Amino acid sequence: MLTQAPKGTKDILPSEIHKWHYIEKEIAQICSDYGYKEIRIPVFEHTELFQRGVGDTSDIVQKEMYTFSDKGGRSITLRPEGTAGVARSYIENGMSSLPQPVKLYYNITAYRYENVQKGRYREFHQFGVEAFGSYGPSIDVEIISMVKLLFDRLGINQVRLNINSIGCPACRAEYNKKLKDYLRPNLENMCPTCKTRFEKNPLRIIDCKEQGCKKITAGAPALIDHLCEECKNHFEGLKAGLDNIGIEYSVDKNIVRGLDYYTKTVFEFVSDSIGAQGTVCGGGRYDGLIEECGGKPTPGIGFAIGIERLLMVMENQGIEIPQPKGIDIFIAAIGEKAHKYAEKKVYELRKESLSAEKDLMGKSLKAQMKYADKLQAKYCIVLGDEEIDSGKAVLKNMKTGEEKEISLDTIIDRLKM
Ligand code: ATP
Ligand code: MG
Repeated sequence: MLTQAPKGTKDILPSEIHKWHYIEKEIAQICSDYGYKEIRIPVFEHTELFQRGVGDTSDIVQKEMYTFSDKGGRSITLRPEGTAGVARSYIENGMSSLPQPVKLYYNITAYRYENVQKGRYREFHQFGVEAFGSYGPSIDVEIISMVKLLFDRLGINQVRLNINSIGCPACRAEYNKKLKDYLRPNLENMCPTCKTRFEKNPLRIIDCKEQGCKKITAGAPALIDHLCEECKNHFEGLKAGLDNIGIEYSVDKNIVRGLDYYTKTVFEFVSDSIGAQGTVCGGGRYDGLIEECGGKPTPGIGFAIGIERLLMVMENQGIEIPQPKGIDIFIAAIGEKAHKYAEKKVYELRKESLSAEKDLMGKSLKAQMKYADKLQAKYCIVLGDEEIDSGKAVLKNMKTGEEKEISLDTIIDRLKM
């Protein structure tokens, strides 16, 4: 127990952190290009926020939340996703009085009590954006294009975009009647979760991952065939917008998304190359969410990308993420005097933002040189009594092997050349 992280969690080790930094940099860049500002939200919120914001009939609320009472007796939940927290913050901080749309992004850990498997963890990372205030569909096109461009920049081409519309409360009410009529004869054979969804939110049944339920819903009527005029036009607008900027997509009638608050546009970017957990990005419009959480009626749309799955796709495609470069210089030292000098010198170099290292283990010269190689030092300099006394030493370029005698006072200038 003591030496094992809890199931479904993982350390990100120094040997792989460069991959995360690389992706985080690309995320910050694309958000800047698209005018999305970062927001940082708490790791935990009042449980009720997720019950309302994610929805009582979602998988997340029904099965997956880490909920506990704190010492003050409040029910607290670790965030299972980002949208509800961002929506709460939008309301709490009066962001409706800002110029609209308000475009936000987050890069967070999320927590779900899941059946752990490849690409499915209990602590995982999500990059997501939320845009509040615009009914679209132009903003729908904008955020979908953002995902596409991010994937392009990362070199990912093995993902497909699937879109759908799940209508508004008006057309969904009509549709729900038809769906219930279709499902009713088989209600007894459905999983317990779906039985509870039947009255509360039958559309959610389409999203069930149980094989038995999947069979039953296979031939069910699709919402997209029963949209009201307004939702139909919105969806046509979305498709025309994607066509206009040349983004390919398929319409997938079965996407309903896992969260209760979605309206109209829903979409996924899916990869076939990483197995069953193939959805790398999920998103959609949630025009009812802000009001549901206690704000003024405000439309919104967003997406979330699972970073672990993104990395899996990149790995599968053989995309090489640039390795961090080595240090600028290793100062090897023999003897007390040289060590003291090296101690001072590395501090001077670091003050100049040069990465410098010296021996800290009492290694032999040979071992120090080996270590300098491991650190991929660009230059190395060996100091003994003689060098300290004369103020001169040999600077070795570790890549070319070239050696040059230099004055110790000029190391910084030479490295900066
Ligand atoms: P799934 O259908 O795979 O359960 P979801 O619909 O629950 O996904 P969302 O809530 O839309 O997923 O989250 C957005 C993205 O976050 C997903 O597309 C996926 O890439 C990632 N994700 C979701 N759950 C996990 C998890 N348990 N572990 C790792 N990544 C996850
Ligand atoms: Mg899920």
